[in-house]
Amino acid sequence: MNKAVYPGSFDPTTNGHLDIIKRASGFVDQLVVGVLENPSKTPLFSIRERVEHLKTLTDELKNVEIMPFSGLLSDFVKKVEAKLVIRGLRAVSDFEYEFQMALTNRSLNENLETLFIPTSTQFLYLSSSVVKEIAMFGGDISDMVPEKIQSVIIDKFRI
Ligand code: ADP
Repeated sequence: MNKAVYPGSFDPTTNGHLDIIKRASGFVDQLVVGVLENPSKTPLFSIRERVEHLKTLTDELKNVEIMPFSGLLSDFVKKVEAKLVIRGLRAVSDFEYEFQMALTNRSLNENLETLFIPTSTQFLYLSSSVVKEIAMFGGDISDMVPEKIQSVIIDKFRI
């Protein structure tokens, strides 16, 4: 079985993430979306909330599973018995970091391959941080995040 992991923070999930999930799930047998719990970062949404959002958003994609993880990605990939890591690439600025991560992960687990999927043009400048910044100042995020989670993002910034 051709199983892949798509890891990230997803704080919150954007239309760019969802686009990568949909495209990747179209060519692998099973896609595990790994939601990173990073103790050194304080996310806007808890790990539970981020997992819940993704579950709601991928409800109709039957070969997609959402799982939280912490620690090394290469260990998580081994644990779920996948061999492929999917990452989305936006601008060239993503490349240096992503390339370094891909090589590092491969040195930790030689059976692991990383596959980069270029973003769809309309999501080129979209990131979770941009969404948070705009939402914080009451801007319109309707083109950036799936409708189902729009209000929970806006509510987070309501005083
Ligand atoms: P991380 O904290 O690991 O960077 P993110 O949640 O920001 O995780 O992103 C997870 C993955 O999704 C990364 O591979 C990132 O490059 C990709 N990604 C983020 N935003 C977009 C986008 N707009 N289009 C395509 N891929 C994206």
